[in-house]
Amino acid sequence: DSAVKRRVRTVVSDWRASPAVWPADRRTHYDALVVGAGFAGSVLAERMASNGAKVLMVDRRPHIAGNAYDRPDEAGVLIHQYGPHIFHTNSAEVFDYLSRFTQWRPYEHRVLARVGDRLAPMPINRTTLNILYGLDLQSDEAAEAFLASRSEPIEVIRTSEDVVVSAVGRELYETFFKGYTRKQWGLDPSELDRSVTARVPTRTNTDDRYFTDAFQAMPRHGYTRMFENMLDHDNIRIETDVDYRDVAADVSRDRTVFTGPIDEYFDYRYGPLPYRSLRFDHKTLDQSQFQPVATVNYPDEATPWTRITEYKHLTGQAHPKTSITYEYPAAEGDPYYPIPRPENQALFKRYEALARELDDVSFVGRLATYRYYNMDQVVGQALATWRRLPGVKPVEAAS
Ligand code: FAD
Ligand code: UDP
Repeated sequence: DSAVKRRVRTVVSDWRASPAVWPADRRTHYDALVVGAGFAGSVLAERMASNGAKVLMVDRRPHIAGNAYDRPDEAGVLIHQYGPHIFHTNSAEVFDYLSRFTQWRPYEHRVLARVGDRLAPMPINRTTLNILYGLDLQSDEAAEAFLASRSEPIEVIRTSEDVVVSAVGRELYETFFKGYTRKQWGLDPSELDRSVTARVPTRTNTDDRYFTDAFQAMPRHGYTRMFENMLDHDNIRIETDVDYRDVAADVSRDRTVFTGPIDEYFDYRYGPLPYRSLRFDHKTLDQSQFQPVATVNYPDEATPWTRITEYKHLTGQAHPKTSITYEYPAAEGDPYYPIPRPENQALFKRYEALARELDDVSFVGRLATYRYYNMDQVVGQALATWRRLPGVKPVEAAS
């Protein structure tokens, strides 16, 4: 199968120079067709291939790695094409699994929010309160008492507004959450499920890390390299620039793993599922540093972007220039975020019922299961899907 291997090598290491050659191999039988080369598809392709299955993977984008795709820009600074991706997890299983394909660079994410002409730590912590109100709160208890004096008791916490107002009160809610959320989602926090703003905690100590997970690190040579290593397998053939629609009828296979939008798979039978999009404005600056931390959030509604990220903080790259990305929320464009609201979940459940009837198709990942999942959650979900797939698996491969 050296031809397959050669093909994988070509596509993986030099896919930009080698457009997809489909349908060169139309008559081959595959054990599985994997749609989407992001975390969900790549984990399943790797697991199945390691277990002896022949896998054809297609992605309609011109590259692998899905939304985690990173690449050097024209100046040679490593950037994330689809916005900043910071890896963090509490799952040793997920971290160990990915560690087979990459070394890591320890990195703890820090975020500042711009309020007027000041920068204050986000999530809200004691330092945030001291900066914002010119206070000198010295203990957790003092910060707790301060927040308790402002928070509004809410009996049943349902929405993203309830979560924040009940924790920090209306003024801090309006300063840090209301405008940001209205921009990001095109919805008021009162119209969004509580799970959205509940992603961001409130702290009374001075821990200014964005995440507190046990494992926090960036792939040492970037995400794309990690994916190349995952997919560099004799049993995996990769076709980029290829849409599922173009191959669905032609590829002979036993199983399909679908990681695109589930409503699209079913031709929008019940109507489109809402997804939120973003426009990324990448800039390279002729200076070595732009801002003091990787990400600065702009929570005011007047500023059209939500945040600016400077990649060198994430990657540790030394370079005389620096590259940053502005994120502009958008209604139209690639589907990046499922929108957590009860009516959307109800619509998803109808699609999920259709999916359940298809024994030989697995729906995996953020778009196919309509879940606002981080990368590690998608990897965990994909590994769980692999374990449930029919067929014999070696103990090692199932773990
Ligand atoms: P994707 O990465 O979206 O991959 C799906 C792939 O399927 C895509 O490449 C797509 O082109 C392909 N596809 C879809 N339909 C078809 C079709 N019909 N035919 C062929 N191919 C198709 N997570 C974190 O843990 N930390 C972060 O800091 C973080 N930051 C994020 C920032 C932004 C702006 C966004 C949008 C997401 C962020 N995430 C972060 C979430 C992370 O991107 C996802 O959890 C993860 O990438 C999901 O992987 P996936 O394989 O499910 O989907
Ligand atoms: N959020 C906010 N202000 C902030 C940061 C976050 O209002 O400064 C809200 C907003 O609704 C956002 C959600 O909390 O969409 C989750 O934030 P997170 O940083 O986890 O978003 P992601 O990185 O997934 O885009």
